[in-house]
Order: sequence, then structure tokens, then C-alpha cells
Amino acid sequence: MTEQQAIIVPQISSLPEHEARARLLVRWLSQQNIIEAQLSTCGRTGLRMGYAIGPGARKVVKHPEHLPYAQPVNGLEIISKRCIYTPTRDFAEEAGCPECRQEVGEALFESLDEWMPGATDNFQCPLCGHEDDINGFLFLQSCGFSNLGLVFNNWADAEFTGDFLAELAERLGFKVRLVRVDL
Ligand SMILES: [Zn+2]
Repeated sequence: MTEQQAIIVPQISSLPEHEARARLLVRWLSQQNIIEAQLSTCGRTGLRMGYAIGPGARKVVKHPEHLPYAQPVNGLEIISKRCIYTPTRDFAEEAGCPECRQEVGEALFESLDEWMPGATDNFQCPLCGHEDDINGFLFLQSCGFSNLGLVFNNWADAEFTGDFLAELAERLGFKVRLVRVDL
């Protein structure tokens, strides 16, 4: 079975009180039995600590038969440091300006050298001067740039429902993007 991740990222570089919001979200997800309340070794990175998949996950996806119940890596990992989330396969680094509609991918992805250490949250279109949080630009392939990322290991094939994504966005207070990563 191929390994993949469904990563939910709020569309803002610096989510205010991101750790507190993440804690509230984990509490709500565990109350819904979507994940287990306690950390265990069901993640992929570092010490592999994550919140294992729970029985309620079936309610929030379109294809529950693809949920990773039988796999050792099946949990939610919370990333609470600034991170760039892009698809790892066939990623073209394309981006568009929402103002002048021109292709600005090359300059935008180069600017991540300044975004990553926190020098700025924004990107300025080199063609028309439009400036916004980098998440405000247009991405043909979904990507995210934020100090919070919710990494659901091996949940991507099951596909979250639109209602679930809308609920997460409401709870985080910002629109979210879903980034699929194939490993
Ligand atoms: Zn522009």
C-alpha cells in the first residue's frame, strides 16, 4: 500500500495563538472519536508520536474503506512550527497573482527563503505590486504556508468531506487548504 498524507493548513502564515487553537481542535476531534485522546506511536516523524485514528473517522470521509485502521502509521501529527506544505510528487511550483492574474510561481517560491525564517508573512507580486499574505496567492496544486499543520497520516485516499473541512476552518477561524502528499 502506498503511503500518503492529508495535511490541513490554515490559510495564514502566522495563526494567532496557534498552539492553544491546536489543543482545542485536538480535544474536539477526540470528543468526536475521530482520533484517540492520548498520544501514541502512530505517527511518522521524530518520535512518531501522534493521535491514533478513532472509530468516528468514518463519519468525516467519503471513502471509509480507505482509512488506515490496519496500518501502524495512522495518526494525526500536529506541527506547530512554521512550515511549507507542498505536494512532493510532480510539483510544478506554479502560482498566480489574484490581482493581475499573471504567473508568479518562480519569484514566489524563491521568496520562501525569507518567509521560512519569519522575515515576512507576505509576498509582493513582482508584476503589479499586489502584496498579501503568501497564502492569499493562487495555487493550481494546493499548498500551504503556516505555523500550524495537521498531518493525517495515510488518510488522503479516504478523502475528507467538504463538511468536515468547513468545520475545521470554522474552529480554526481561518479558511484551510488540504494538501495531499504522496510519499
Ligand atoms: Zn500581480
